[in-house]
Amino acid sequence: MRENVLVVGAGIAGLFTALAIAPTGRKVTILERDSAPQSHDTDDAFLNWQRRGVGHLRQSHAFLARLRSIIRTEHPGLLDELLSLGVRELNFESMLSEMQRKNYVPLPGDAELAIITSRRTTLELALRRYVERLANVEIVSDAAARGLLTESANPIRVVGVSADVAGERRELRADVVVDAGGKNSTLVEQLAAAGMRLHEESETAGILYFTRHYRLKPGRSEPSRIGNPPAGGDLGFLKFGIFPADNGCFSVTLCTPEIEYELRKGIVDPDTFHAITQILPGLRVWTNEEQAVPTSKVFGMGDLNSRWRDLVVDGKPSVLGFFSLGDALIRTNPLYGRGCSIAAVSAYMLRDVLDGAADPAARLLAYHARLHEEIRPYYLTMRGQDRSAMKRARQTLTPGAKPSLRDRMLRSFIEDGVVVATRFDIDLLRESMRGFHMFEHPNRWLTQPKNIARILRYWSRGKKKNAAAYPPKPGPERAEMLRALSIDPERDMLGGSEMKKAA
Ligand SMILES: Cc1cc2nc3c(=O)[nH]c(=O)nc-3n(C[C@H](O)[C@H](O)[C@H](O)COP(=O)(O)OP(=O)(O)OC[C@H]3O[C@@H](n4cnc5c(N)ncnc54)[C@H](O)[C@@H]3O)c2cc1C
Repeated sequence: MRENVLVVGAGIAGLFTALAIAPTGRKVTILERDSAPQSHDTDDAFLNWQRRGVGHLRQSHAFLARLRSIIRTEHPGLLDELLSLGVRELNFESMLSEMQRKNYVPLPGDAELAIITSRRTTLELALRRYVERLANVEIVSDAAARGLLTESANPIRVVGVSADVAGERRELRADVVVDAGGKNSTLVEQLAAAGMRLHEESETAGILYFTRHYRLKPGRSEPSRIGNPPAGGDLGFLKFGIFPADNGCFSVTLCTPEIEYELRKGIVDPDTFHAITQILPGLRVWTNEEQAVPTSKVFGMGDLNSRWRDLVVDGKPSVLGFFSLGDALIRTNPLYGRGCSIAAVSAYMLRDVLDGAADPAARLLAYHARLHEEIRPYYLTMRGQDRSAMKRARQTLTPGAKPSLRDRMLRSFIEDGVVVATRFDIDLLRESMRGFHMFEHPNRWLTQPKNIARILRYWSRGKKKNAAAYPPKPGPERAEMLRALSIDPERDMLGGSEMKKAA
């Protein structure tokens, strides 16, 4: 029997669901609330594609190497189309420190460690146009799912979706319903309200994201990574990065801790944003007047949470015929750039479990097990890093707060051991990148005795001997930066009960 799969949402998760499942011969119908893009032009998509369903459409995006590898293996034609639209590949060599470049000899596996980056509108336009042409796939635009059609109560069995299609309420039946409706999808909540058992963890990622787009001036090219200060860095109170994009465009992203209220209020002002880019040497070489012009306002984004949902509770499937993926199921801090990769990897897990069993309970159990085995370790690592960053941000704003000895040792191990070692030792960098890019467990490389020995060797040598591995200071201290922006650095300092939390 040819199964019918109904997908809610034609964002990254929905499109990857189609890429994964259509080649199996199943029929895939995607319902998308927003309208289709009106043209094939990347600038037109950036300026005019209305995507009320994706508030972060104009935030900086990059696809990790794992995601690029999936595209290259499963749909090489799509990779060609992305590149022909101007999407960029940044290879392993571009991640090396200047020191490492001098002795770099490529190994066969290095090619796999490339990322792809561009304006998200360009990535999504290429993906969507490609998926629209796949056999077995139909994308229905202006179609909003309103609720699920269900039968039997324990566990609930989903048999379709009720949707407003071009203004008319329709009931669409399917063998499998996939919720790819993103972070604001309400389908899981609707099931929970109807009695489905749901396990959910959610907490703030602790940051806000601000992005502004620029275009290189005619005749200018991107600043070299050699001889210029790094185009990304972490000042504690501010993280920054350049995202090279398609067709002469690039974007700058600034991130502040949630509790830096004055700074975050200031950054949305384009003049303040630009002023920050002129203060930070790594950004100034990209955004100065001779080099580039801003092409957008500042896009701010808050409400950034980590959220993990389980539809299997106490070993029992809570629902049948229904799967969720992408941000509807797992949300992570955008800083790590893993959301799209998690969505894509989950889509291929879904393909495997649909191919592997016909019984809906067995399918959900298998999907749940794969998510826990392959994605959960990343989720926990990222959540742990967020918690440490939030603690550090509170300490920065607390007069006299001092990190504990344990925290200081841990930070030194990471900054003066792990980071320094990977800036000297290319093999170590390769191994760490395999975890970073989701090819293997994020901490596997740190469990190898030979790698730990190398890190300890660099750490124990001390800062003086390792001096060559430290990048130049990325920018000024907090008070100096805020004063330069006419923001009072004292305004957000914490006192009273907040000070206790920082300790
Ligand atoms: C600021 C920011 C920066 C990020 N940067 C990166 C990055 O660099 N790299 C990376 O990998 N990830 C990044 N992410 C995460 C990534 O964007 C998300 O993980 C990804 O978009 C999730 O895909 P999705 O399909 O689940 O959701 P979305 O892409 O949000 O798509 C959901 C779709 O469902 C549709 N929809 C919703 N409800 C309905 C309904 N009822 N009926 C029909 N359609 C519906 C919406 O219109 C939308 O098209 C970033 C996220 C943010 C917030």
